[in-house]
Amino acid sequence: MEAVTPLEQALHTARALVLADLVAGEVAEADVVSLVEEAVVQRRWWVEQWPDGVAYVAGLVAQDVQDALLDRYGRWPLCPVCGGGDPHALEVEPELGPDPHWVCHQAGVKVAALGSLGPAGTGGTPSS
Ligand SMILES: [Zn+2]
Repeated sequence: MEAVTPLEQALHTARALVLADLVAGEVAEADVVSLVEEAVVQRRWWVEQWPDGVAYVAGLVAQDVQDALLDRYGRWPLCPVCGGGDPHALEVEPELGPDPHWVCHQAGVKVAALGSLGPAGTGGTPSS
């Protein structure tokens, strides 16, 4: 009979959103999933120290996972908008705020909300 606290809800959502984008990029392997779990555990501690940060957890977990992947696998998620040129990763905006989005700083566009990246190579194509 444990109530789901806003903190648990936020952590659950953060995990689900980041996993959805990892699946979309086809990098959701077992050890990558454990990176997400690790990030969620650390952010749980962080929000317990600073409850007002609960709305920022999803964006922060995404950035934590991005950093961890950079060390072990390389850039993620790769920008699906810019054709050609150097492959580059999307970035989370705002870095510390609610409603996080993936943006490409080279094209200057919002690509997708966190958790809404399409499959690699098909998502985010401008319709114009
Ligand atoms: Zn780009």
